[in-house]
Amino acid sequence: VTEDLHGFSKRRSCSSENEVDEYLEKLMLEAEKENRELKGDQVVSLPDEKLLEKGIELGYFSRRGNEALLTEEGVERSRQLIRSHRLAERLLADILNFSDEEIEEDACRYEHLLDESAIDSICSLLGHPRTCPHGNPIPPGKCCQGGAFKFRPLVVPLTELEPGEEAEVKYLATTDNDRLAHLTSLGITPGQQITLLRRRPAYVVQVDTSVISFDDEIAGQVYVRPVKQAVAVKKGRRFRWSRKFLRGR
Ligand SMILES: [Zn+2]
Ligand SMILES: [Zn+2]
Repeated sequence: VTEDLHGFSKRRSCSSENEVDEYLEKLMLEAEKENRELKGDQVVSLPDEKLLEKGIELGYFSRRGNEALLTEEGVERSRQLIRSHRLAERLLADILNFSDEEIEEDACRYEHLLDESAIDSICSLLGHPRTCPHGNPIPPGKCCQGGAFKFRPLVVPLTELEPGEEAEVKYLATTDNDRLAHLTSLGITPGQQITLLRRRPAYVVQVDTSVISFDDEIAGQVYVRPVKQAVAVKKGRRFRWSRKFLRGR
């Protein structure tokens, strides 16, 4: 059982007004667990008639005789909800440095608050991450296609750094346990400050007093937040906050 499932099961309080969404998410998580795609026209068994009616009203389910079917809109909605949830987790973990517990409590609120374009902005900001902090896949959005960034994402793979640039390790995008253990033993762990020294013939990185080199593949799996950009963004956020604060008074 993934931590995500655990998180979802505890969310009763934050989404009681959103039972249809909750059910759609559950469908997607079940499909993931069983390694199959969620499909339109798939028969679903909703826990009660009221939920089905609400879902039909929203266009996420339809009726065929005595059966309830998921619609394409329903599939898209569950995809979007899972995407929002996991991107919110990334945002909370990597940028706002929330603890695991706080992430569990808050990711669910964000997923209902943010619309698709806000989610795509967060996705771009984070460098279009492929997985959530628990290692579960983030369904890609429109923003992830083409790879043309309007601005440099806040979190990038090591391969995007320029020589001399300092960065903080944010996460390691690999599920290979041996590789994770190897990187960790070298001191490449979330929160660690590093400096890229060279890009060729291999990526050479300074970690505290040691110097480590990586091949392209591993460098592409080490996601970092460049230090300089972090300062600029913090300033921007503070500015927006203070203006909002002043208007409120
Ligand atoms: Zn997760
Ligand atoms: Zn994206």
